[in-house]
Amino acid sequence: MKVKSIAIDGPAGAGKSTLARRLAEKLGYIYVDTGAIYRTVALKVLWEKADPADPAQVVPLLEGLEIHVGYEDGVQKMYLEGEDVSGAIRRHKVSGAASQVSAIPEVRSFLLEFQRKLARESSVVMDGRDIGTVVLPNADVKIFLTAAPEARARRRLLELEQRGEPADYESILRDIRARDYQDEHRPIAPLKQAADAVLLDTTRLNLDQSLDRLLSLVKEKIAL
Ligand code: C5P
Repeated sequence: MKVKSIAIDGPAGAGKSTLARRLAEKLGYIYVDTGAIYRTVALKVLWEKADPADPAQVVPLLEGLEIHVGYEDGVQKMYLEGEDVSGAIRRHKVSGAASQVSAIPEVRSFLLEFQRKLARESSVVMDGRDIGTVVLPNADVKIFLTAAPEARARRRLLELEQRGEPADYESILRDIRARDYQDEHRPIAPLKQAADAVLLDTTRLNLDQSLDRLLSLVKEKIAL
């Protein structure tokens, strides 16, 4: 049977990863969190004490970079040089660095084939910023998931608190706005809705409602 692909793009904190993971579970597809892949590159840069905003320092690190994606009970795990870094890449500091390294063209082209290969091997729900526009332009379903910045900041705060990382709402909101700006205005693969993507705004929807909407959108496009 031909593999299928579902692309979910949108800004940070719109609920992409939780929804994409649950959608993949329902469909029996593999969930690919591409943000985690960029975060892993960023972590390597931080390990090397290099400046994530400086291509001259970042690009040489790509050569020989050892990144692997694994799955444990359907949960994506990231490995850097053989070490499980799935927890470490979630740190607040890595978020900003990921956004910076992801603006470097060489980083994006390095990861492009990596991501496409995952989608050739299995049916996937892939989430990111440029999946429907650049990585999988022929995806069977494309969704652009968004929510108001304030709603996204509240969700991020809750997530960090649950992980025992205290943070404050105002600084999270500032970071979200800064990351949105950076992701939307970079010259290469900026965050934008693909012409053929369906917009889903989750500001006023809870997770279950959002998942229901997603499932019905998918059913319209793919005969399940
Ligand atoms: O989704 P997440 O917040 O984990 O992504 C971290 C950063 O990686 C984002 O701010 C974005 O700049 C970058 N990213 C990207 N393209 C993707 C996924 C993530 O540029 N497909």
